Amino acid sequence: MNGLWQRAADRLRDELGQVGFETWIGPLNFIGVQGRTVTVEAPNRFFRDWVNDRYLALLRKSLSAEAGENIDVKLTLGEAAAAAQQVPRPTNGRAPAPPPVAPPAPSSSRMDRHPQLNSRYTFAEFVVGSANQFAHAAALAVSNQPGEKYNPLFIYGGVGLGKTHLVNAIGHHIYGSSERPRKVLFMPAEIFMNELISSLRRDKMNEFRDKFRRVDALILDDVQFLAGRERTQEEFFHTFNSLHGDRHQIVLTSDKVPREIPELEERLRNRFESGLIADIAPPDLETRVAIVQKKAVLENLRLAPDVSLYIAQSVQSNVRELEGCLTRLAALASLNKSAITVEFARQALHDLIRNHDAKPDVEMIQKTVSDFFHIRLADLKSKKRTQHIAFCRQVAMYLCRKLTSSSFPVIGEAFGRDHSTVIHAFNLIQRRVTNDSAFRLSIEKIERELKAFRANAA
Ligand code: ADP
Ligand code: MG
Repeated sequence: MNGLWQRAADRLRDELGQVGFETWIGPLNFIGVQGRTVTVEAPNRFFRDWVNDRYLALLRKSLSAEAGENIDVKLTLGEAAAAAQQVPRPTNGRAPAPPPVAPPAPSSSRMDRHPQLNSRYTFAEFVVGSANQFAHAAALAVSNQPGEKYNPLFIYGGVGLGKTHLVNAIGHHIYGSSERPRKVLFMPAEIFMNELISSLRRDKMNEFRDKFRRVDALILDDVQFLAGRERTQEEFFHTFNSLHGDRHQIVLTSDKVPREIPELEERLRNRFESGLIADIAPPDLETRVAIVQKKAVLENLRLAPDVSLYIAQSVQSNVRELEGCLTRLAALASLNKSAITVEFARQALHDLIRNHDAKPDVEMIQKTVSDFFHIRLADLKSKKRTQHIAFCRQVAMYLCRKLTSSSFPVIGEAFGRDHSTVIHAFNLIQRRVTNDSAFRLSIEKIERELKAFRANAA
């Protein structure tokens, strides 16, 4: 390995973080320097195109900084990769994403339904936008060449953003697209654990192991659920190794990256990080409009463009909630035999939309936090300085700043403090949220309760 490349790589590691670095830069192979051009080899086309689009400038910058002169970068393909079939190429689109590249429909040889997969969750029904196009492209690549390229594929992202949908689509594709029947097992991680416990209890571990190790593809949904479950992690570690060793595809989803899953064994984390990690972010407006329109067609609902836009603008965080709005609209429209105008949608969805996207207010946060920590609301707002109460107060201040649009002074007023106290509390808690994953989980729990609180309050 060349010294220049090594130093530039260290620089990139700082810039991209460990996961980003390992995902994108680690797999590149340094080939050589000629004049002012550094040549590196990408393991496949998919990779090369992606790095070309997203990381080339950064690569040049780091190399140039280390070399003290302008360095150009050439990305090539290994021989095997050059010969291999081309996989879909993600585009670097900030604009609305291109229409999805639909994979060939599963061949008619296997039209029977898969017992665990949701038949609605296919590639054809998945709308691609800039927030999910990488995960989508990776999912397609894995579907086309299971076990060969990205193993495991680890997809992470927030609630209701399409992780389960996408991995089901992979499952359908692997299951249905081959001449020989392929065994695909889809399972929430929680069920994996339940089956494990029941097999242990009934002394049926051999059967359990057989079941999981004989599949061509194992899709485990929501692996963050494995947090702290030592026995399940241990068993899954062996399952993972066995499948991986046989080059069978493993697909995992989670609401966070491996390194942020608390109480996850190091060796399992390493395995999770050893393939391709792809994230799904909340969809942008154009994608939300496209999703609304697609779902409307699927529900036989006629929606004018201004109505789709209205819904997409009103629900921003979560695709599942978008769907909820549509279902409600469909029901009301057929009940009232009425045309769906923006005004109709506004009234029909009034409460739904207010609940979902209304911000919590300071009072609501104070109440929820004091309930959560079992202290009195009056104490939270008082001048008391006992450690526990002061801590709860800091958490509440932090959440007020994070979740409302109130300024530091306004929040201070609500607690009878001045703004510098709030700033101090905010920084303190934020640092801890960043550094302490168990603590972060508690904070997330409070945030979820706040959501529930809002939903009930309406
Ligand atoms: P997650 O597993 O990330 O919580 P899901 O896969 O269950 O989310 O998605 C929630 C709902 O939103 C599902 O009904 C799914 O079909 C839909 N959905 C999410 N993303 C998309 C998308 N990009 N295109 C079409 N439907 C989507
Ligand atoms: Mg899910």
